[in-house]
Amino acid sequence: MKWIDSHAHLDDRAFEADRATVIARCSEAEMGVLAIGSSLRSSREAVRLASRYRNIWATVGIHPHHAKFVDEAALIELKELAQDDLVVGIGEIGLDYYRDLSPRDRQRSALRQQLNLAIELNLPVCLHNRESTDDLLAILKETGKRHCGVVHSFLGDGTLADEFLDMGFHLGIGGPLTFPGNEVLRVAVKRTPLDRILLETDCPYLTPVPYRGRRNEPVYVKYVAEEIAKLKGLALQDVAKQTTKNAIRLFGLSD
Ligand SMILES: [Zn+2]
Repeated sequence: MKWIDSHAHLDDRAFEADRATVIARCSEAEMGVLAIGSSLRSSREAVRLASRYRNIWATVGIHPHHAKFVDEAALIELKELAQDDLVVGIGEIGLDYYRDLSPRDRQRSALRQQLNLAIELNLPVCLHNRESTDDLLAILKETGKRHCGVVHSFLGDGTLADEFLDMGFHLGIGGPLTFPGNEVLRVAVKRTPLDRILLETDCPYLTPVPYRGRRNEPVYVKYVAEEIAKLKGLALQDVAKQTTKNAIRLFGLSD
């Protein structure tokens, strides 16, 4: 494996017509992909994709948008799914106070319950955070337990990057790094050690320049890597190599 897209919504409707072709392009590029669950349905689908394709692994979890559907039955099914060998993490979980599609107290309890599941099963987490940093940090700190995982689509400044890095998290960096307005993020990424960065697309969303505005797909993660290489004065292949190593180590992937 030369590349890993650590965050792809391959189950998304946007891939309905040509999912197999999109995945074939990943194989051609020697790219591994983490298919991320965001609901029970999409978690089941992520596991199904992982069982079908050698270069795909799954995470299972319920996104904060769907937190209002997290109940005891959902947690039982999630735990069952999470014990599949092809499931390498819990996510995407977290808080989203920007869209507020679930009540905030339900978001917080769903996050706590899924963080506990990750600890119980010894799996890393994929965290979603949008305008909810204070509560997210407070919840991560409250148990006193050490969580591990990735802050997906990190968009903060250097101070926030340091805070997550000090807690042991990796930063998931995607298309927004290539957007003209994101100078603060570029400064933060420039000073983040490369061994704590994961490449991601969040496809079909957040398409990097030069394809911004079109549907995103895993192979476009190269444009994010190019930007990181430029910022750090490294060769593209060194960025690919190290970020692949990081994802293999964090999620325990076997080639
Ligand atoms: Zn996502």
